[in-house]
Amino acid sequence: MRVLVTGGAGFIGSHLVDASIASGYEVIVVDDLSSGRRENVHPRAKFYQVDIASNHLGEVFAEERPEIVVHHAAQASVVRSVQEPRYDAMVNVLGTVQILEQCVRWKVRKVVFASTGGAIYGEPISIPVTEDHPIAPISPYGITKYIGELYLAFYHKAYGLPYVSLRYANVYGPRQDPTGEAGVVAIFIDAMLRGRAPTIFGDGTQTRDFVYVEDVVQANLLAMQSEVVGVMNIGTGVETSVNLLYAKLAQLTGFTDPPVYAAPRPGDVYRIALDPDRARSLLGWRPKVTLEEGLRRTVEAFKEQAAREGGG
Ligand code: NAD
Repeated sequence: MRVLVTGGAGFIGSHLVDASIASGYEVIVVDDLSSGRRENVHPRAKFYQVDIASNHLGEVFAEERPEIVVHHAAQASVVRSVQEPRYDAMVNVLGTVQILEQCVRWKVRKVVFASTGGAIYGEPISIPVTEDHPIAPISPYGITKYIGELYLAFYHKAYGLPYVSLRYANVYGPRQDPTGEAGVVAIFIDAMLRGRAPTIFGDGTQTRDFVYVEDVVQANLLAMQSEVVGVMNIGTGVETSVNLLYAKLAQLTGFTDPPVYAAPRPGDVYRIALDPDRARSLLGWRPKVTLEEGLRRTVEAFKEQAAREGGG
């Protein structure tokens, strides 16, 4: 079975590529390397450095004829979406529409879309948030991801294109980019290992739902194989404050300084945790890696990478 993974050089996408190859899929990666890294791409995956919003996307589909498309390529930063909403819309809306046009044209059997539960519900009315919670994004990124879901529903209705939209919580794990503004776990670990105190935006009592990348990959594999159509949360349902996350990571890295506190950022919600019940009943998915175990593995991976890059 041939699967095309957009964003397959990025954090989540590259883990999905590895797992898909291990499961016997033939994998094609489309990524413009705007935030992803070529070295993340599995050597057995076929790689195209192509912008999903460009005219070249159609050539890849014509050449490769994928049966499944897993769409992870995106402008994935809330902060950048606030600063550059037009760029965010170009990649996340126009890029997604182009992908769906190609899927219909080449009769793709299933599309799996990386959506966000952290940004489309806005400030939750109740926690954990279910899929029926009102949609009220407070950032351009949340808006464009939701528009992507609306297009998926349209293409399903108009052309019978089956889809699953996975609304991720805060995904963390090895290979997450610590240089952007998104990915608090990666940013904290990277700073702590360099002996620098990380910055917490707000007072640190804000909460997030941290889900380990291996569990997210598993949800994608199940969605690729399932007949189910629709949206579902991929999270743990557990809230963890940023202060508690800081304390856990400080312990794992041996870092002893307190954080630097700064003003909260526009576009960030205060509390969030996603109810994973629908994914459990429809896909048989549940998160398996505890926060302690996931953070331990992530810190180890960052240390190994630092040793490799430092030549040590
Ligand atoms: P990432 O930045 O590591 O991955 C995104 C990939 O898409 C990168 O490799 C980048 O080079 C590529 N890309 C960006 N614009 C592109 C374009 N125009 N054409 C082709 N490729 C392009 O981010 P990630 O954390 O791995 O996120 C993957 C997906 O999951 C994104 O769609 C993101 O919105 C979604 N998501 C992530 C999280 C999270 O916590 N990391 C949470 C919710 C949703």
